[in-house]
Amino acid sequence: MNLPFENTADFAAQLDQQDTLSQFREQFIFPKNEQGNTQIYLCGNSLGLQPKSAKEALMNELEDWAQWGVEGHFHGRKPWFHYHKFLTDYTAEIAGAKAHEVVVMNHLTVNLHLLMFSFYRPTFTTNAAGEKQPARYKIIMEAAAFPSDMYAVQSQVESYGFQYDDAVIELSPREGEYTLRKEDIMNAIAEAGDQLALSFFSGVQYYTGQLFNIPAITKAAHAVGALAGFDLAHTAGNIDLQLHDWDVDFAAWCSYKYLNSGPGNVSGVYIHEKHGLNPDTRRMSGWWGHKEDVRFLMKRGYIPEPGAAGWQMSNAPVFGMAVHLASLQLFHEAGIANLRQKSRTLTAYLEFVLLQAKAENPVLQFEIITPNNPDERGAQLSLLTDDKGKALFDYLFNNHIVADWREPNVIRLAPAPMYNNFADVFAVGKAFREFPG
Ligand SMILES: *Cc1c(COP(=O)(O)O)cnc(C)c1O
Repeated sequence: MNLPFENTADFAAQLDQQDTLSQFREQFIFPKNEQGNTQIYLCGNSLGLQPKSAKEALMNELEDWAQWGVEGHFHGRKPWFHYHKFLTDYTAEIAGAKAHEVVVMNHLTVNLHLLMFSFYRPTFTTNAAGEKQPARYKIIMEAAAFPSDMYAVQSQVESYGFQYDDAVIELSPREGEYTLRKEDIMNAIAEAGDQLALSFFSGVQYYTGQLFNIPAITKAAHAVGALAGFDLAHTAGNIDLQLHDWDVDFAAWCSYKYLNSGPGNVSGVYIHEKHGLNPDTRRMSGWWGHKEDVRFLMKRGYIPEPGAAGWQMSNAPVFGMAVHLASLQLFHEAGIANLRQKSRTLTAYLEFVLLQAKAENPVLQFEIITPNNPDERGAQLSLLTDDKGKALFDYLFNNHIVADWREPNVIRLAPAPMYNNFADVFAVGKAFREFPG
């Protein structure tokens, strides 16, 4: 790290000059505001920016469709029959997984359901009176998980006839704290013991920006005989993941946050090979997961493709995937470990300029609730504000800084190492210093 930092334009320019990833910024399109000013975009945690290569990638598929019609499945530049495979190696790099452990398909929440169908498997015993009793059936998760995750878990446990409040163990930070302590998570998992079927956490928490200790949670879950799954929506493309080595059972993420693949685009899935290569692992099957060499024999009897590919239900949505592929190529070129290294410094610099602004400008009232240890956060800082929070957010927007507002009072700022630079961060700090209240 380049400590000690200085809060000057020259110092930021110097860091940008030393940045070996600085050229990637040129590969993206930055939005302009109504006055025509290019925006300082710190909202890649919500919707990443468009790579310049996206349009051509999409146009190529439209052209191949025009030229080939149905024959495009086997002709054209990237035959659609195999389309998902063009993304496999790049996706494995993002996940830190083997190629046969990943697949791109569907959308995130849909995939969470499909994965819980496979990996949330409550067990039952029969008591002396001959009644069926739940045995291992609980899910442990954050109390303040992303709403879609809460709703998905609710319908999963209810589908087995359980009450949410009984089957779901929710973890909240301690009184007066904003993030969960690692030891509290470990203890809660141990305490749930042989009742625990599944631990289901995010990687980077969407609201607080806290990065959970994925390997430690996984280990703790396995120690009590449970499985460990993760929602990596805010983590993929942000953190250098090693899902296979960490022995994570399953994970899913979306492609439109740090992975810059456009609104509502496809989701990535990881399934550890110990489950994925077992044809008996329960799954929702469809024709695209059927063994490829016999897929078009149209016969009865499902034979899964080995690995995560055997969870595909439908044929590949090529237009979305083409854009995702264009973006993944940039991650491959930049290298996720290099991005993470830059990200640590970039986020630390943001923290530095924000805290200086707070010290200098008495009008500013906020607390950074994201952990200050770079190992416990990704590219995002969450600022808990007072009743002037919304005014601060609007002021930033009027100064062409795009942050993101989460009710009731949090401003999230996410410098994405792929396209943000130190000059962006310096400009944000300057705007905070000059906030008139
Ligand atoms: C963004 C996000 C989602 C969104 O799910 P979609 O199905 O892609 O709409 C779900 N969970 C988490 C944790 C998220 O951050």
